[in-house]
Amino acid sequence: MRALSLTEMSSLVKSNYSRQLSSTAMAMCSSFCPQIPNQLRARPGCSFPKKPLYALSVKAFSSQTPNASVKDNELSARIGFLGLGIMGSPMAQNLLKAGCDVTIWNRTKSKCDPLISLGAKYKSTPQEVAISCDVTFAMLADPESAVEVACGKHGAASGMNSGKGYVDVSTVDGATSKLISGHIKATGASFLEAPVSGSKKPAEDGQLIFLTAGDKSLYEMVAPILDIMGKSRFYLGDVGNGAAMKLVVNMIMGSMMASFSEGLLLSEKVGLDPSVLVEVVSQGAISAPMYSMKGPSMIQSLYPPAFPLKHQQKDLRLALGLAESVSQSIPIAAAANELYKVAKSHGLSDHDFSAVIEALKAKSQNSAK
Ligand code: NAP
Repeated sequence: MRALSLTEMSSLVKSNYSRQLSSTAMAMCSSFCPQIPNQLRARPGCSFPKKPLYALSVKAFSSQTPNASVKDNELSARIGFLGLGIMGSPMAQNLLKAGCDVTIWNRTKSKCDPLISLGAKYKSTPQEVAISCDVTFAMLADPESAVEVACGKHGAASGMNSGKGYVDVSTVDGATSKLISGHIKATGASFLEAPVSGSKKPAEDGQLIFLTAGDKSLYEMVAPILDIMGKSRFYLGDVGNGAAMKLVVNMIMGSMMASFSEGLLLSEKVGLDPSVLVEVVSQGAISAPMYSMKGPSMIQSLYPPAFPLKHQQKDLRLALGLAESVSQSIPIAAAANELYKVAKSHGLSDHDFSAVIEALKAKSQNSAK
């Protein structure tokens, strides 16, 4: 397959929203693997059945101590990592800490420097990373950047061939994932989508949850690598199912945060202490780590970015497209999406998504005028 031009990529990505996931793909969403208990999780030492370019023998590590370095065993897979933002950097760092051979690339080169100082190798294009690695991971902002890095000029696909693998851990929609899969597989390489649940801290702690779909043999091969970066992994079947699962999860999360924001503001307006609300919520059936983690800083109007607001809005937008593809009504998520759009219009895109509360504050100030 030839590399896509920027215009082609943009129109393909835009048309994705109107495409439907196959009914098989949707049905697979409900038949995911249960969370794998730690003692049953894949142990190091798996390799491709056919003679691969990369025979992976992974260092022994405890999945409960993912960042522990490994001394006596051998990890021969050369791992590529494309995209070193809030999530990609700590994920790649955990691979390095575990003793993996990691080659990195990021559009903004300066973000590579801390990892280079930890021992990462650097290549100047995704293509070169793919050429020099056995399996390449990508953690990119959105569908457009995921397609550009995989399928564009000097993209990863142009460096892939049979025996190599590409694992896209970005959050994109199913149609984008299928598009990337098509380009990767046309080279003879294997493809796995593996978006993650969990934010900056779980990424740092190696506690992510991988929602994978695609080539099962690649899933099995990279399982020990996923276990370095995460605490659990689900294999969901056909490409598109991992993306769909991730979008459903983030649709719920976006609505939860919007609703929590309303609660904080309302409690304050009626003369309650919002800190006490956070405490009350934390002790009841609706408690969620997210509320306890974000609540105190939201009360202080502080939003250090762990999950950028622009990505939460992107995920709601993609979830709306997913719902549209099966004619499902999602009015709560649609309303939440509007609120995140307002927050973006107030310049809050790069703040944490909890800054959505500022959109509500602005609305109540406007209505008070
Ligand atoms: P981020 O900090 O904004 O990083 C985005 C990455 O994408 C950066 O490496 C950026 O490169 C790169 N990028 C953006 N546009 C590009 C383009 N046109 N060409 C090449 N590279 C481009 O985002 P993040 O928080 O790490 O999130 C990454 C992905 O994970 C997103 O899909 C997000 O939805 C998902 N996710 C995030 C979280 C979270 O809590 N943060 C949790 C789960 C999933 P530059 O450095 O050059 O800008």
